[in-house]
Amino acid sequence: MLVMKGILPEKGLKLSFEPFELQLKHVFTLAGSSRSTTPVMLTRIEFGGFCGYGEASMPPYLGESHKTAAKYLSALKLEQFSDPFRMDEILDYVDNIAPGNTAAKAAIDIALHDLTGKILNKPWHKIWGFSPEKAPDTSYTIGIDMPETVRQKVKEASGYKILKVKLGSRNDIEMIETVRSVTNVQICVDVNQGWTDRKKALDMIFWLKEKGVVFVEQPMPRENFDDIAWLTQHSPLPVIADEAIQRLADVQKITGMYSGINIKLMKCTGMREAHKIITLAQAANLKVMIGCMTETSCAVSAAAQLSPKANWADLDGNLLISNDPFLGVKIIEGKITLTNEPGIGIQLAVNNYPAT
Ligand code: MG
Repeated sequence: MLVMKGILPEKGLKLSFEPFELQLKHVFTLAGSSRSTTPVMLTRIEFGGFCGYGEASMPPYLGESHKTAAKYLSALKLEQFSDPFRMDEILDYVDNIAPGNTAAKAAIDIALHDLTGKILNKPWHKIWGFSPEKAPDTSYTIGIDMPETVRQKVKEASGYKILKVKLGSRNDIEMIETVRSVTNVQICVDVNQGWTDRKKALDMIFWLKEKGVVFVEQPMPRENFDDIAWLTQHSPLPVIADEAIQRLADVQKITGMYSGINIKLMKCTGMREAHKIITLAQAANLKVMIGCMTETSCAVSAAAQLSPKANWADLDGNLLISNDPFLGVKIIEGKITLTNEPGIGIQLAVNNYPAT
């Protein structure tokens, strides 16, 4: 940074962060794990009387934690930046200071977008020039469970026009039959890499199509490249990559192997890179889903700003928790409804936001 002699730079960006534990409304089970809380790190970037909010959501299986996020965030010296609109410069610094830490990096990216949007007094979907009415319906996730619980959850989800059913355990057929005994809405399925035999997987996908399923997410382990390419080639439904794709550079690797990708801010370091991934994926003729972890209305509202560009959205992470510290994007009759609230479109829920 060039500072002329005798002229003091403007005061720089001020970062603060706070660990927080999300309480899940239901124990959440997917192929391989089960849990009832999710650790998140809440971030704030202050500048010129404005405050932007961000979040890192860190489901344990992804390898980040309160400890790793605190270590990473403590190493950042954002006070060296005195212009929050130099986002490329700031976020390149944030990305290059350490490898990995994608959720912690997203917590900075989201807070910076919230901050700059607030200074401009515009929401990001508007800054990007998107049409908010093009935002899709969001799916609502039904985790692997006993039939009685599944029936109950599907009834609770009656306002949603598409359900995401988790498969990949021994009771896949029972899960779908149970959901179908309660509702006729569209279903998509997420196998979380749970199937290992490609021929059985293909038979299952044909059966799922008859049951009104519209796409299949990560049916097989991400390293089974040949099996997945074969499956996508023969599948009557789109096959979407989730665990197989993380960042921008991965898009090229999976082109031709999958029909589409599930983009999540916590995987790809935030809104800036997610926007680039969408552009690249659509140029490569891949379908785009914008997804999330279990996270607060902060990160979900940030992802929702990108949703008008997506074919599908799976932005229900905030709906699965009972202590959301933010108010943000609204789901009205199952559809993501963006507002003119500036930045990422959130406010504090004062009863849940931790005292600072
Ligand atoms: Mg998934």
